Amino acid sequence: MGGMIRFHNTLGGEVEDFVPIEPGQVKLYTCGPTVYDFPHIGNWRAYIFEDLLKRFLAFRGYKINHVMNITDVDDKTIRGAQARGVGLDEYTRPFIEAFGRDRDTLNILPADHYPRATAHIPEMVELVKTLLEKGFAYRRDGSIYFAIDRFPAYGRLSKINLEDLRPGSRGDADEYEKESVHDFALWKAPKEGEPFWETVIGPGRPGWHIECSAMSVKYLGKTFDLHCGGVDNIFPHHENEIAQSEAANGVKFVNTWLHCHHLVVDGEKMSKSKGNFYRLADVLAKGYDPLDVRYLLLSTHYRKMLNFTFEALDQARTARQRIGDFLGALKDVSGTATDGAPIDPLIEAARDGFVAGLDDDLNIAEALAAVFTLIKNVNPLLARGEVSKEEAAKVAAFFAEIDTVLAIKPSPTIAGSGKIAKGGYAASGTASVSGGGGISATGEALIADRQKARAAKDFATADAIRRELLAMGIVLEDAKDGVRWKKVGPPKG
Ligand code: AMP
Ligand code: ZN
Repeated sequence: MGGMIRFHNTLGGEVEDFVPIEPGQVKLYTCGPTVYDFPHIGNWRAYIFEDLLKRFLAFRGYKINHVMNITDVDDKTIRGAQARGVGLDEYTRPFIEAFGRDRDTLNILPADHYPRATAHIPEMVELVKTLLEKGFAYRRDGSIYFAIDRFPAYGRLSKINLEDLRPGSRGDADEYEKESVHDFALWKAPKEGEPFWETVIGPGRPGWHIECSAMSVKYLGKTFDLHCGGVDNIFPHHENEIAQSEAANGVKFVNTWLHCHHLVVDGEKMSKSKGNFYRLADVLAKGYDPLDVRYLLLSTHYRKMLNFTFEALDQARTARQRIGDFLGALKDVSGTATDGAPIDPLIEAARDGFVAGLDDDLNIAEALAAVFTLIKNVNPLLARGEVSKEEAAKVAAFFAEIDTVLAIKPSPTIAGSGKIAKGGYAASGTASVSGGGGISATGEALIADRQKARAAKDFATADAIRRELLAMGIVLEDAKDGVRWKKVGPPKG
C-alpha cells in the first residue's frame, strides 16, 4: 500500500522523499505553546496539522517519538506574571491545563514528551557554555549573545536577505523582525523584578530559542527527522535553533522542516496581539462540535493560508454530517447477499486515493476526495438495497481505519437529530443540516410503520421504508432506546 512519502522541506524549498534516520522510526519535534494565555484556533491549526502528520506516519507503519516543548519562561510569560503579581509557575499553570483540555477535545494525540523550559535550565546552561567555549557566543553587559557572523549557514532556512544582516548589533527581545537581523540573546542578565537562576554561566534566564535546541537534543538526539511549526516560527526562531544546535554539535540539526501556513481572518494572521482571534470555547459556545473545528482546520492543505469564517465552519459540519449519515445508512443495512456491484474494488480505490493523497506532502484535499467518491458510489447501491450486511460492515471498517488518521469521528447521532422513543414515536427536536424544521406527517407515519414492521421482524418491509425515507432526505439510525432520525440537505461546498 502506497509508495514513498514525500514532504515539502522548508530547508531547500523542494518536495523530497521522506527517509527517516532509523528505518521505521520517526523523531519529531514541534514547537509548542507559549503559555502566557489561552490558545486560539490559529494555534490549533498548527497543532492539528502536526497531528495529521503524526497520525498518517503511524498509519503508514512508523513508530513516532514526538516532543513538544512548553515555553513557560519568556518575555510574555514574565510580563504576564508580573502584571498579576504571581510567580511564573502559578501564572502559567491554568494555560498549560487549558492546552491539555483543548488538545483532548480536538482529538489530538498527546506528544511523548512535553518538556517545560523552566525544568531544563541546567541543559540550556550547558549548551550556552559549549557555545561560549567554541567561540560562537560572547558576553555583553551580563547577557550572552550568539554571534551570527560566526555561523556562515545563518539565514539558509528563512532565506533572509544577507544584506539585512547586522553582525555585532544585538537584540534582547525573544521575537524580532526580519528587518533587523542581529545577534540574539542566549542568556539574559537578571532584571529588577524578573525571575532568574544562579548558574555556572552567571545569574540570569534563558532567551526563547535556546530551550528548543537544549530539549530536542536531550529527547531526540543531535540529528532528528522532522521539525514543525507555523510559518511565523521560521524566522527568527527556527533559524536561531539551527544556529545554536549546529554550532554546538557540529552536525546537521534537522533533516526535514515542515511549516504550516496561518489561519487568517480577513487576510490577517489570527493572533492575540491583533485581537482578531477565537478560542475553541468561543466557537463551541455557538453550538459547533469540536470535531467540526478539527475538520475545518484539517481539510485545507497545510501550506495554504486558511481564512476562518463561520460559513467555512458550517461547511465542515455538513461534510462531517454527510459521512455520519452514510455511516448511519450502513448500520441500517440488514439484508443478506445481493447481486449489486461488488464493494471491495470501491473500497480499495478509496484507500489507494486516500494514501496516495497523503503520501504527496499531506494532500488532504485529494485524500478526502477519495473518501467522498466512495460515499457517492455506495449511496445509490444502498438506496437500491444492493449492499449486504457484510459489505456494509466492510465499508464501515474502512471508515474506522481512515479515522485513525482523520480523527473526525463522524457519528450518525450528532446534534440536531430528533429522537423517537421505543414503543411509540415522537418527532421531537429540530432536525436538519440546512436550517431547521421537523419532518412531515408522511415522514412520521413512515417511521411509525417501519417501527411496527421491525417489531414484527418484517425486515424486508422495514428496509424498504428506510430507503423511501432516505429518498425523502430522512436518515434513520436504530439506537438501543428507539430510532433517531435526521434530515439531510444537499451537501454544500
Ligand atoms: P505560540 O504560542 O505563539 O508560540 O504559537 C504556538 C504555535 O502556533 C506555533 O507553531 C505558531 O507558529 C502557531 N501559530 C500561531 N498563530 C497561528 C495562526 N494564526 N495560524 C497558524 N498557526 C499559528
Ligand atoms: Zn521551538
